[in-house]
Amino acid sequence: AKESGRNRITHFENGMYAAAEERRRLEHELIESLGNGQMKVYYQPVINLKTQDEVGYEALVRWEHPELGLVMPDKFIPLAEETGLIVQLGEWVIRNAVDEAASWSNQHMVAVNLSPAQMRSANLIPSVVNALASSGLDPARLELEITENILMHDSDSNLRTLHSLRAIGVRVSLDDFGTGYSSLNYLRAFPFDKIKIDRCFVSDVDSRDESRAIVRSVIDLARSLGMQTTAEGVERESQAQQLITEGCDQVQGYLYGKAAPLKSGQLQPSDRVIV
Ligand code: C2E
Ligand code: CA
Ligand code: CA
Ligand code: CA
Repeated sequence: AKESGRNRITHFENGMYAAAEERRRLEHELIESLGNGQMKVYYQPVINLKTQDEVGYEALVRWEHPELGLVMPDKFIPLAEETGLIVQLGEWVIRNAVDEAASWSNQHMVAVNLSPAQMRSANLIPSVVNALASSGLDPARLELEITENILMHDSDSNLRTLHSLRAIGVRVSLDDFGTGYSSLNYLRAFPFDKIKIDRCFVSDVDSRDESRAIVRSVIDLARSLGMQTTAEGVERESQAQQLITEGCDQVQGYLYGKAAPLKSGQLQPSDRVIV
């Protein structure tokens, strides 16, 4: 027993070492990914629920890693956050999305996610201004999405940043609504343009009374405050039908299309997933 116990510890230590090594390697590769073309921005269509028209796209970053394959953001955004690389990565995504949208022949909007570190970065406003200026994109076509948890810490400085973004003319959305802390206070403190209702409420809006009641209330609240609503993660026609009944403005989800690469300058038909 003693022997096997020691082996376990050795394995454990090796495991820790391996994990630290792996992390360092990933961090290094992440830094390089911005320059070597492995980092890609995919775009998921946003649909006007009433007209069923595509009205824009959300930019979602992907890492096309030569050995690991397609790496999803949950796997590297946290590491980018911890190392501070997210600021550079985030600015790169904004530039990519703004250039992409400027090349479209329609007036579709493009939405980009902002991380907490970006909100704190003194370079955020200049980088947004630069991206807009060099692409010529109408600022009103850029939406920046922040989660309510961003507002929890240092909310004064974050509110100032939000007001600066608003002054530039970009739109601001509250992402993952209902999954974080004390949302109502933020809705009072800052006039968001849009509330994005999290997938966890949308997933059973067609089958569970509680979810339906919550979604209905959020949509009513948003409307009273003059904000739009987008439902995230719509996968079934029955969810879409319920959301139409509740008066939701926009939808995103696999029912309408997954995030996919767009060829700059030409809109591709969203690959509609039949569920
Ligand atoms: P999010 O902003 O809430 O994005 C929505 C996520 O739900 C995306 O996952 C999207 O692919 C996924 N999704 C969309 N429709 C459906 C559906 O019908 N069913 C299901 N099951 N999922 C759906 P993704 O692309 O893996 O991104 C995860 C998160 O990573 C994002 O959540 C966002 O918080 C973060 N992220 C992605 N790109 C960026 C970025 O450029 N910057 C920052 N800071 N964060 C990003
Ligand atoms: Ca988002
Ligand atoms: Ca979301
Ligand atoms: Ca999310």
